[in-house]
Parts: sequence; structure tokens; C-alpha cells
Amino acid sequence: MTSGPLSSAELNDLVAGLHRVTHNLWWTWNQDAQELFQELSPRSWQHLYHNAVAVLHEVSEYELRVRLQDPEFCSRVKNVLGQFHFYMKDRETWGQTNAPQLKKNPVAYFSAEFGFHETLPIAAGGLGILAGDHAKSASDLDLGFAGVSLFYREGYFQQAIDQENWQTEYYTLLNPRNLPIEPVLDNKGEPLVCVVEIALSEVYFQAWRINVGRVPVYLLDTNRPENEQRFRELTLRVYGGDNTTRIMQEILLGIGGVRLFRALGIEPSVYHMNEGHAAFLALELVREKMNLGKTFAQAMEATKPQCIFTTHTPVEAGHDRFNRDLIGYALTKMQQQLKLNMDDFMALGQVNPHEPFCMTVLALRASRAANGVSELHGQVSRHMWQSMFPGKKLEEVPIGHVTNGIHLLGWMKGPVRRFWRRKLNQPDSECRKGACWEDEINSPEFWKRVADPSFISDEELWALRYELRRELIEFARRRLLLQTHRVTQGDFIAFDHLLNPDALTIGFARRFATYKRAPLIFEQFENVVKLVHDKQRPVQFIFAGKAHPRDDEGKRFIQKVIHLSRFSELKGHLVFVENYDVHVARQMVSGCDVWLNNPRRPLEASGTSGMKASCHGCLNMSIMDGWWREGYDGTNGFAIGPDSHPDSIEEQDRVDSTNTYKVLTEEVIPAFYERDSNGIPRQWIQKIRRAMVTLVPEFNTWRMVKQYAEKYYIQK
Ligand SMILES: *Cc1c(COP(=O)(O)O)cnc(C)c1O
Repeated sequence: MTSGPLSSAELNDLVAGLHRVTHNLWWTWNQDAQELFQELSPRSWQHLYHNAVAVLHEVSEYELRVRLQDPEFCSRVKNVLGQFHFYMKDRETWGQTNAPQLKKNPVAYFSAEFGFHETLPIAAGGLGILAGDHAKSASDLDLGFAGVSLFYREGYFQQAIDQENWQTEYYTLLNPRNLPIEPVLDNKGEPLVCVVEIALSEVYFQAWRINVGRVPVYLLDTNRPENEQRFRELTLRVYGGDNTTRIMQEILLGIGGVRLFRALGIEPSVYHMNEGHAAFLALELVREKMNLGKTFAQAMEATKPQCIFTTHTPVEAGHDRFNRDLIGYALTKMQQQLKLNMDDFMALGQVNPHEPFCMTVLALRASRAANGVSELHGQVSRHMWQSMFPGKKLEEVPIGHVTNGIHLLGWMKGPVRRFWRRKLNQPDSECRKGACWEDEINSPEFWKRVADPSFISDEELWALRYELRRELIEFARRRLLLQTHRVTQGDFIAFDHLLNPDALTIGFARRFATYKRAPLIFEQFENVVKLVHDKQRPVQFIFAGKAHPRDDEGKRFIQKVIHLSRFSELKGHLVFVENYDVHVARQMVSGCDVWLNNPRRPLEASGTSGMKASCHGCLNMSIMDGWWREGYDGTNGFAIGPDSHPDSIEEQDRVDSTNTYKVLTEEVIPAFYERDSNGIPRQWIQKIRRAMVTLVPEFNTWRMVKQYAEKYYIQK
């Protein structure tokens, strides 16, 4: 610790260092950094929704310098800056060792959405969260990687519920000054401006850079004075507007993204399309090669080895399709430059003549490799796209799989990070002799030790579970109080008695896409009422999720759940937390005892929210779909139904709701409430251990990104 006051030069360094840290998302997965910003201004931290950039704007430079004279605070700042420095510096890493060629020619990762943190709400759901976690792990592993997406100034919508319990959407404008992003500048210090052709117009765009640890993600932004108003608003909202907006956004993402890399002098070795939205990038790569004298066929042949494609859903609506008129209109310049007539141009996105142009088809056609996001999803995708590969047997259809994961440190809640840090004997989180917290928490050896009761006792795991459940319940009470302020019907609930901190708490939070069947469990209404009112073994439910703005069926599901929560015998035992986002997700996956997942099999390609639960000791109870088929081993959670499904949807819904209730009453509730003489549910805790040992080291993005690298990125 320093003695005596800090010199002005030292203060300058520390202040500059803190600003640098706020402009790198690294702080979003570093506990110590977050605690510093929180302590600087606790109320702003809460009010500004954990936005370190905005907090530093809130605190005057003078105040910051004064507070740095507190030796204790100062030494913590130095510790954080030291950790950041160590994280960023050149050293022996997985990427340096295993993928040195990607350092010079990185992976260009295109995604229409990226979900990083609650302060940057530019993701609609799991696809974006996955992209964000992919980037974070690419950074941890030190892979050559650069992401591209769009800067949605109004982000994804905020959810409010009206008097009829109907979801309404509102948008708030993001202020770049208060975000962890910085403008990409040219060598004159002006914003770097590029251009794409959309229909007959030239559309100008600039870019913002997000530093995700060691890797950049660029957000394209058409809000430029050169553009007509309609193009200035093109990047306003995530998947905003109609199909015309959509295709224009996708032209910007795919074609504009490639042009940005050219302008930056980045020469990617692989173009990874995260979902079909980005597939137009292939057309740009073809166009470039034709400019150098190749024919279309030669250029396409040479483009294929550069591209890989990940498909994310078997749901039809998840595959963008554009009609001929729209394609002809929006891509007229590209069509001319590729020297294709309209039929041949359309054929790039068609399996059969006369059908609309499908982005997935273009992506598959233009890629050297493609994959689904779980084993079952790989199978389903091969089936779905078999007709594109005439003469190939099902198993020969060139779509493999890499099962999704999560960025472990980014999802771990504060108390849990502290808990594991203590177990790793790294209370100050310092990296010693190259052995880093990031490395150790991701190592299977570490998680294997969780099986050992002398390493962690049942008692301390149970205490941790109680702490997390209590935090969730208090969070839900706070949120419900705020939510209900808007409701004027005098329907008063004593919020401090809402939800029971001792009760088995079941969580369900995800997009309210109808195939996820949020209200399925309430098909067993009378039975569920009995369960929640059981005095000895009570159960309660916390729900959250947004429906797509144009999905009325999804909104009806929300309406149903909220209605039950307010006007049925479930009142007080079922709550709906509004405005689901990354922050709500973190509270829920950590605080719930059981994570319920009941999609209509096989439509949940992977699902990732359940993976976030395991490291917190929340157990999965899920249909055998997506990742859970691979994760479940009979000891580490609960399976709803067999590894198969009936053909008829009605039959499926009926069987699945019956099975859900059955598993709940026959397996879940008994295991949770069977306590020994010390009040400890030994059997339950054994399952938690098994979940930690078997699931955490497997279903994370370290494993996933390494697989992408080994299977697809690194070309031998
Ligand atoms: C993890 C997450 C998702 C994805 O959850 P699924 O289980 O894949 O549906 C969606 N939204 C948010 C905010 C998340 O954190």
C-alpha cells in the first residue's frame, strides 16, 4: 500500500486507467471492478442499471481524485487495473498456442444481435446472448476474432404490461456517450464512413467499437447526416419494422460488415455467419472476386472455403424469406454486379423454383461447413435441408453440430463468484504465476472436486442456496412493487409477504415464443393450486419473458400467466417479473431451485438459460430437447418424458403437461423436502453436486469456442 498522498501524475494514471476499464466490457465479468463502480456511487449504480461508463460520468473528476486518496480504495483500484493489465497483456494463451494463424487473419463473426450486459440492450434473445458469450470466450482464450453487428440506437424494446395484462412495447434512446462503445475513426480523427447500396440509394454508415476484453465487436450505424431520413432510422431497432426494413438491415450487416473490415485493413480468414441474417456477406465476397476478373462460378467456388454457417432454429419463422420483388428492389445493384439474371439470382436462395428467397439456403450454399447448436438440432437440420443436397443420404447432409454454451464468469452472480473464489483460494482474484481465475473456474478438474464433501460441505451449499433464493425473492418483491404502481385498481398485495423464502421456487424465463409453451404447467391448474397451498411442502413460481412485438399468440401467453398470478388461487405463489433481460435472467437462474423448460420437442434447438442455472446450484427440469438431452444423466436434474415425442401436437401438449406434473410430484418435491435431522436435504444437494460436476465444465463457451476453432476455424 502506498504511503503519503498520491502525486498528480499517479492520480492521472489511475483516473485514465479507470476510464479505460469502463470502455472494455471486461468489467462486466470482473467482480472487483463492478464493486468499485458500485461503491463510487451506489445509487447511480442501481439507477443507471449497473452502467460503469455512466457512473464515471456521474462522479466528478475532482471527486474521483479525492476518493483515490483513500489508501484502501486506491489499493483496490490498483488491484483492478493490475488484473485488467494482466488479462490484456501478451502471454501464453490457448489461442497463441493453438490458433496462431488467426491472430493475423481473424475470425469475422457476423451476428444481427449481441447480448453482453444490461447496459447495452441490443439483443432480442438467446441468439444474441450466445453471440455475446462467444465473443467473451474468444477473448478469454485469446482467439483472433472480430464481431460485427448493428448499433440499434433504441435497442430491443422494453416491456410494460397494461390494464388488460397485455404486453406493450416502448423504446428508450441509447446515448453513445454513456455506453461502453467508442466511435471508429479514420486517420484524420473523423468517424470512418463506408457505404452500401440499398435499392438505388447509397447508404452511408459509421461504426462503433465495443472492446470485449481482447477482441473487438463493431456496430454499424446508418444514423449519418448524408442519409435520407428513412435510412438514418434503419438501425434504430433490433429486427425493427417489416420485411423491407429487415432485408435492408441484413444488407447492411452482411455487405456493410465486409466493407468495414476492408476499410479497417482487417483480412479475416473465416467469415462466420451466426444465423442466416448475415448471409449477404457471401455475395459481397463473390462481387469482390468478380471485380478482380473471376466469373461468378469461379468467385462462388473461391468464396465457399471462407465461410461457415451456424443455423439456430428449426422453427420456420426463424428462417428469413424474402419475395422476388423485394429481392429485386433491395439488391438491384448487387444483382447487376454479379451479372446474374433475376432467376439465377433468386436461385441462390431457393431449393425449388418460384419460392421466396431464403437466407438459410444462401448461407448453406455459400459455406464450406454448417452446424446446428445441439446434437438433436443437427439431426433435425439435416432432415430439414436434405432437399438442398439431392442424392445425399440423411447422414451425408453436410450439417454437423456444436452444442451451445455460456460464458461462465459473465453469468455467475456476485455471491457465487465470491464463493468459488474462496474455494479456489483466490480471495483477491489475483492471477498468480499465470494461473488465472478465468482459467481455473473453467477447468473440469476444479468442478470434479465439487463432488467431494470435504471440499464443500452440504451445509455450505445449502446456505448458499438460501442466500441466492432470498436475493431473488427480494428482487422480485422490489420489481413487483414498482410494476404494480402503475396498476390503479386497488388490488393491494403486501409485497413483503409475497413469495415464501423457504418454498421450492420454480423459474421460467425466456422469450415467450409459443413453442416454448410458457403456460403449459397451468394446464394442470387444480393440481398446481394444491401444490402451492401445501403447508408442509409448498411450491411457488416466478415467470418472466418478452413476446415478439408482432406475436399476439405469445402475448396471450403472457396475459394468461399474469392473469393467473393476480386473479386466481395462485395469487402470491406465482409472479410475473416484467421486462426480462440479462439482469432479470441472472437473478432468476441463480435464485430459483428448479429451472423449468418445456418446449415442444424438437423445436428448442439448444436453449442456454438452463446452463446458467447449474453453477448456482439451480437444477434443471426439462423436456429432453436441445442441450438437455446431452446434459441429463439421470443424477443431475430432472427429465420430463422420454427422449422422443408423439407426432401430434395436441397429444404432445397433453402428455408433456401430465409428465411435468408427474415429475414435479414424484421426484422434485420429495427430493427437495426430504430433510435429515439437521434440516439438510441431502439427496437434493447430491443432485446439485452432480449438476456442477457434470454440466458446468461441459456447457460453457470455452468448450464451445474451442470446438468451433478446432472443427471449423483452423484450416489445416
Ligand atoms: C439466456 C437468455 C436467453 C436464452 O434462453 P433460452 O433458454 O435459450 O430460451 C434469452 N434471453 C435472455 C435475456 C437470456 O439471458
